[in-house]
Amino acid sequence: MGVSLDYEENGKIVSRKPHACGGNEWTILRVGAEYKIKCDKCKRIVFVPRDKIDKVVKSYERR
Ligand SMILES: [Zn+2]
Repeated sequence: MGVSLDYEENGKIVSRKPHACGGNEWTILRVGAEYKIKCDKCKRIVFVPRDKIDKVVKSYERR
């Protein structure tokens, strides 16, 4: 069961796989058909299609 509907902007994500920089914590900047998330370590921005977001997210914390 997906939890996509629970994600909110400014929420905090821990990803299953680390980013190229080694960080695995992200901040949700925008939700929608494509999620816009920012790596908390290197500050790069990545877009994730909504149907992929549950596969990326290991844990989520509302802010
Ligand atoms: Zn990064």
